[in-house]
Amino acid sequence: MHDLIAITGAGISKASGIPTFEEMGDLRSRLSRDYFNAHPGEFYDGLLKMKETIDRARPNPAHLALAEHGIPVVTMNIDGLHSKAGSRLVLEVHGNLEQVICRKCDERFDFYVIRDSIYCSRCGELLQPDVVLYGDMIRYYADAIDLIGSSREVLVVGTSFYTSTVNEFVYRARLAGKKISIINQSAETEVAKFLERF
Ligand SMILES: [Zn+2]
Repeated sequence: MHDLIAITGAGISKASGIPTFEEMGDLRSRLSRDYFNAHPGEFYDGLLKMKETIDRARPNPAHLALAEHGIPVVTMNIDGLHSKAGSRLVLEVHGNLEQVICRKCDERFDFYVIRDSIYCSRCGELLQPDVVLYGDMIRYYADAIDLIGSSREVLVVGTSFYTSTVNEFVYRARLAGKKISIINQSAETEVAKFLERF
């Protein structure tokens, strides 16, 4: 049984310089399976810009506080900042931008291989991003539900843009009678304050 688990969204990474979905404008509409299938080149141009932003970003005090307190995290973010902060139990339900995958060879490559080509160097197949796109199933769904069920309290951080996934998790937590706290503003200072009692 955990005392607390955290569910995090884009707002927790804002202070690290990662734009939220609202700030990304049309990039958001491009993160769909349909767009990827129709325009893979443009899709990867957008994703490459996002990856370069992510690689320049550092965890902020909110990521670090969760890591220091050993709080398990379910995150909607693909920026990898919880892992960079040192969190050991992180469920990235939307994947991340570390690698791209060839489904034909079942081979993984470093993400930046797409600077040379978005097609597999071995077989020519279009490489797949390791992120969940609109129209895809999320990952670790059952694990996330188990984790929420195994915790006394749930802290929801930076999800003012309520995805259906976050709604679903919070709904499940409410049904199970968990105490739910929500931090949507100034996560970089408020999370550490909240964690003082843990
Ligand atoms: Zn291949």
